[in-house]
Amino acid sequence: MTQDYNSPVVILLGSNLGNREQILEEARQSLDELFGYHLLYSRICITPPWGFSADQDFFNQVAVAETWGDVPEKLLDALLRIEENAGRHRSSSVGYSSRTLDLDILYMGSQIIHTPRLRVPHPRIAERRFTLEPLCELLPHFKHPVHGVSNTTLLEQCADPSQITWNVD
Ligand code: ADP
Ligand code: MG
Repeated sequence: MTQDYNSPVVILLGSNLGNREQILEEARQSLDELFGYHLLYSRICITPPWGFSADQDFFNQVAVAETWGDVPEKLLDALLRIEENAGRHRSSSVGYSSRTLDLDILYMGSQIIHTPRLRVPHPRIAERRFTLEPLCELLPHFKHPVHGVSNTTLLEQCADPSQITWNVD
């Protein structure tokens, strides 16, 4: 079904601060409102923090929408607003830190975008098991427009040793 999407917009949701399950649920509602229909969502994947240490593990989930009809930066702006509404405050420190909600654009169809504010495909898809695992649940055959191989192939080639588990309700 999702493989028929010509130009899927793919978003990674992440949370490791506060009530992660509730934060993701509210984020899903906000995304559905933004697009005007129910998006497709992967299961929630649980992983240890990547690149820094924190008290809580990450909950990550991938969302797929059919398309985005406006300029890409407007989607980024909308996602940043949803993050802010979830109580996210960016610290000025360099590097990764805990966050109530992180919304990253992974793909916008086959578009390659390189602006000061936005890089699509997201530059770290191929390195992160917590991105690739839920991504492959929804779009296993979608080809990365830069690497030219499917998400499944990226997962097979991924060297990230992180142990992931799946959230069971
Ligand atoms: P990270 O997600 O890497 O931990 P942030 O969520 O703080 O970092 O994002 C920092 C900035 O990254 C955003 O303000 C945005 O301008 C920029 N950015 C660049 N490419 C993307 C993308 N594909 N998706 C989301 N944000 C992006
Ligand atoms: Mg982000």
